Formats: sequence, C-alpha cells, structure tokens
Amino acid sequence: MKSLDQLRETMRRDRVFDFVAKGEYPLSAFRHTVTPGEIDVSHGTILYVENVTVSFDGFKALNDLSLYIQDGELRCIIGPNGAGKTTMMDVITGKTRPDAGRVHLGQSIDLTRMNETEVAEAGVGRKFQKPTVFPEHSVFQNLELAMKMKKNVWTSLFANLTGEQCDSINQTMELIGLKEQSAMQAKLLSHGQKQWLEIGMLLMHDPRVLLVDEPVAGMTHQEMDRTAELLTQLAGKHSVVVVEHDMDFVRSIARTVTVLHEGSVLAEGTMDKVQDDDRVREVYLGS
Ligand code: ADP
Ligand code: MG
Repeated sequence: MKSLDQLRETMRRDRVFDFVAKGEYPLSAFRHTVTPGEIDVSHGTILYVENVTVSFDGFKALNDLSLYIQDGELRCIIGPNGAGKTTMMDVITGKTRPDAGRVHLGQSIDLTRMNETEVAEAGVGRKFQKPTVFPEHSVFQNLELAMKMKKNVWTSLFANLTGEQCDSINQTMELIGLKEQSAMQAKLLSHGQKQWLEIGMLLMHDPRVLLVDEPVAGMTHQEMDRTAELLTQLAGKHSVVVVEHDMDFVRSIARTVTVLHEGSVLAEGTMDKVQDDDRVREVYLGS
C-alpha cells in the first residue's frame, strides 16, 4: 500500500474524491444526513423532477421539465444534443440549482437543498462519461478505496478489511464481471472494463438511484451487450437512469424511454411508441 501522501496525490486526480483530497473538511462533513433506508417510496416513485426550469443567461436549458422515476425501474433518457440531458443530471445531483421547480428523492427528501456530497450520501450515485478509476491500483483496491470513502469510514482507510467487507468487494467484482481481473491494475483494463469498474465503485455505496451518462460510448459490441446485462441486473435493487445516444443499445435495455427536447419532455413510453411519434422523428430520430 502506498503512503498517505502518494495516495492523496492519486486521489487529487480524481474529481469524485476531490472533497477528500482537500483535507479541509471536518469528518462531520461526511456524516450523511439521510440513510438510504429513510427514502420514502410509499407512493412507488423514487425520483420526482417537477416543473424544473434552469436558465443560463436567459436561455432555458430546462423548461418546466417534469419527470418521475419509479422505484427500481430502468429508464432511458434520449434527446438531441442540447436537449438538456446533462443539465437535468446536474440538477438532480446538486451541481446546478434550478431557478424553479422541485426535485425530491422519495416523498420527503428535497435534493435542491443539498450539495453534491449530500445528494450522493442521500443515495444518488452518478456515473460520469469518462471513467475516473485509480489507474495504478488494482481492481480490488479500487473497490476497496471506494468502499472506504463511504460516509466517514475514511478514518479507517488503512484498517484491514473485515470478512464482510471482503465479501462485499468480491460480490461486486462478480457482478461487474471483473473477478478474474481482481489483481490487475486498473490502467490495464479495456475501456469497457474501466466503465464497469467505475459502476462497481458506485455500487460500493449502495445507491438507491444510479444516474449513468452515456455508458456505452466507445465500447465494442460485446462490451455493450455485457453493459446492457449489467444495467438490467441492477434495476430492481437500484433505480437506474441512463442517458444514451446509441439507439440499438437503448432498444436492447429500455422499458420506458423519455425523449427530451428543448428542456422539456417531448414523448415518453416504450421504444416502439416514441419511435413512432411524429414529433420525435422530426427532432431526433430523423428520417
Ligand atoms: P444535452 O446534455 O442534452 O446535450 P445540456 O444539458 O448539456 O444538453 O445543455 C442544454 C443547453 O444548455 C445547451 O444549449 C447548452 O449549450 C446550454 N448550457 C448547458 N450548460 C450551460 C452553461 N453552464 N452555460 C450556458 N449554457 C449552458
Ligand atoms: Mg450532455
């Protein structure tokens, strides 16, 4: 294991852990305000985005956007460039404050009052497009670090793993299909494998909602199939929201597809239904 300084240096390169590398936060800052079990999904809906508007210099990137994610569902969000997909994720994760509207996790948790760290700790994980794994560390160590970043177990970074923690890492490696690569340095993984590893790192925090931005960009067909399988497996236990451009991929995993256009929902339904929608054809799917 590396020295603490070396480890911090590694982490500094990774924005996911920026807040830890700064070292200026009291440990209480990591103490989460809400535990995942406290999310009230008694109405079946885990994520409420209601009448949300975000303006940049008067331009409405989101325009009275409303959408609802059911607990455990797998939702695909599609839409042309500039439709507002990334802005929507930014609002959900506390990166961007909406000018109007409400964003709730379950019945009672108002995400617009939280910063990014708090939203993550409330149970919303976000997978950015670019994988942000620790390149010099093994698959196992990446998952171990992710686990120890959770809540305030940062203090026990150099403590030995308990049997239970080891099991949890092994289960995750199995799920993401990297059991055989356990001891391999992350930088030696294929692009697809890195993406799975990062999903695995998010899973170590057991998020209730997982937001995934363009997971299959740059993947081989085989990797895409495996990713479809993985995301499908995750749904149920987690609610998975996937923003994706690749239509074949969306078709292969989607139950419900939401089409965004100019900051609002243009259409929603099965892939067949939205593909048959004249307005959708016009703005997005072309021909
Ligand atoms: P998508 O992810 O669907 O391609 P975005 O959410 O990135 O769309 O962007 C929606 C619109 O908002 C685009 O027209 C984009 O140029 C604009 N936009 C996004 N972020 C900013 C920003 N920080 N400042 C100004 N305009 C922005
Ligand atoms: Mg985008």
